[in-house]
Amino acid sequence: MNFSDLGLSSQILEAIRKANYEKPYPIQVEAIPAILQKKDVLGIAQTGSGKTASYILPILELIQKKEYNPGRSIPVLVIVPTRELAAQVEEVIRVFSEHLPRKVKSMAVFGGVSINPQMMKLHGTDILVATPGRLLDLLSKNSISISELNTLVLDEADKVLSLGFKEEIDEILSRLPKKRQNILFSATMEDPVALLIDKLLKKPLKIEI
Ligand code: AMP
Repeated sequence: MNFSDLGLSSQILEAIRKANYEKPYPIQVEAIPAILQKKDVLGIAQTGSGKTASYILPILELIQKKEYNPGRSIPVLVIVPTRELAAQVEEVIRVFSEHLPRKVKSMAVFGGVSINPQMMKLHGTDILVATPGRLLDLLSKNSISISELNTLVLDEADKVLSLGFKEEIDEILSRLPKKRQNILFSATMEDPVALLIDKLLKKPLKIEI
């Protein structure tokens, strides 16, 4: 199986080639076509499996194809447990979007640093990568809207919950539109993440690596 068998356009394939990825990892073989078709996806996978590119590549493709409605609301939200992961995901987006014809604006927001500089840079963001607490702060200040979000990614969902972000996640979910694509990654499927999976995902493609 090659990246060119997964439904990606030549522009994204070129970006993959520039990143020196030769063959897709198993999680990418399964997740990329499903995400391109706007299906919900459940990935039970660890760090190192290639999970980040498995959702970033098809999302970049959908942005290039203008599949997301432009508007006041951001189209893509990636929720992560820690600022370290937020920075890593943002870096993957940057690497792959560098040479794409349609400019992609991504931003990572997390707590522990002043909120004002983040607020000022949010306008026109295509992909927001955020930790739950800081995201709620930005929402409550009306700095950002997720009311017309197209795609939600919850990465390392088990860690998000074990760090005590359950209430924040519930509050964030209540602000999302009903119709949307949901993608969830977790290293385990045990409670309490199983409850969240039930609540969040609609007939997901389940990928276990
Ligand atoms: P992740 O599981 O997303 O943290 O990715 C683990 C590492 O694998 C990262 O350093 C990626 O750059 C790398 N990686 C992901 N997919 C591929 C691929 N298809 N070929 C080579 N390296 C990859």
